[in-house]
Amino acid sequence: MGENEQKYVKEAFDTNWVAPLGPNVDGFELAIESYINNGTQVAALSSGTAAIHLALEILGVGQGDEVLCQSFTFSASANPIVYLGASPIFVDSESETWNISPTLLEKAIVHRIAAGKKPKAIVAVHLYGMPYQVKEIQAISEKYDIPVIEDSAEALGSTFKGQKCSSFGTIGILSFNGNKIITTSGGGALVTKHKAYKEKAIFLATQARDDAPHYQHSHIGYNYRMSNILAGIGRGQMEVIDDRVAARRANHQLYFDALHSIDSIEFLPEPKGYFSNRWLSCILTPSFAHREKIRTALLAHNIESRPLWKPMHLQPVFSKCLSFIDATSEALFDRGLCLPSGSNLSKEDVLRVIRVIKTIDHD
Ligand SMILES: *Cc1c(COP(=O)(O)O)cnc(C)c1O
Repeated sequence: MGENEQKYVKEAFDTNWVAPLGPNVDGFELAIESYINNGTQVAALSSGTAAIHLALEILGVGQGDEVLCQSFTFSASANPIVYLGASPIFVDSESETWNISPTLLEKAIVHRIAAGKKPKAIVAVHLYGMPYQVKEIQAISEKYDIPVIEDSAEALGSTFKGQKCSSFGTIGILSFNGNKIITTSGGGALVTKHKAYKEKAIFLATQARDDAPHYQHSHIGYNYRMSNILAGIGRGQMEVIDDRVAARRANHQLYFDALHSIDSIEFLPEPKGYFSNRWLSCILTPSFAHREKIRTALLAHNIESRPLWKPMHLQPVFSKCLSFIDATSEALFDRGLCLPSGSNLSKEDVLRVIRVIKTIDHD
């Protein structure tokens, strides 16, 4: 936490705004809007997952529809597709950014259109904070007229050609879960340039109440709005977002400087025009065995590290889903490791991790 989170939360108590709306919600939304900029409007919600759910519904996804989704991601990118009775179709990653492959995406679209099932939306993810290939994905979205939901849950503060992530898709989403770069303990947001989408999101997130003096409903709604207490934490966090990005990037730089000369440890470089918040510092090793050697050596020193996300097309729950894959994400899952990356790590903490990795036989 920074310095002012408690001040905003106390204000909510002092003014008795302990409700799922209020001045902190407005203030938090304004702070995100001016940070993302580029004409975006923001609706603060209870989670990033809720934001994806609403984005899909706003874009008309329903029973029996198909939605294309990056396979290499956290399950929350895909689960809301199933909430709506639609089917995810998973698309593998390219190796420049580890995100959805434009080539495979187009192949999937052509295949589904030929089958008479044009996909309703594309869920693309800026995984670990690295922007996906924005230009290529936008071009495909326009060519086939399929909207993009830009999952920026891990990418607040990342930019492509100087423009902030979450402002590229038809609808963007953010997460303020406890593990993300800034947090409201739990929370999320829907980001869009379309005022009508923001209004629809807030309508659906507050139980879809029609405009009437009594409780009148002509639509199924949800209870997905962010509370004024949590938005107070968010306002304080928005004041320190740049420090948090700098801290994550400093971790990554320390790891890179100390380890990049080891042949069997690779880092994902930022392609020209890409700026990653380096939410997590990840390394790639030559094999599963080598990855495990590093992970278990760290564990023996009481240091937790984790394999990269297990792709959705390999998850038991999604095993029957159609997928367009080329083994890229499977290799990343087998060979990759997330190192300790919190923005509260001290330099000494990072150096301790580095020392353990350096003691391993990397031949
Ligand atoms: C965390 C995360 C989400 C979900 O956000 P919650 O706020 O935890 O619901 C969605 N997609 C990705 C890629 C995430 O990392």
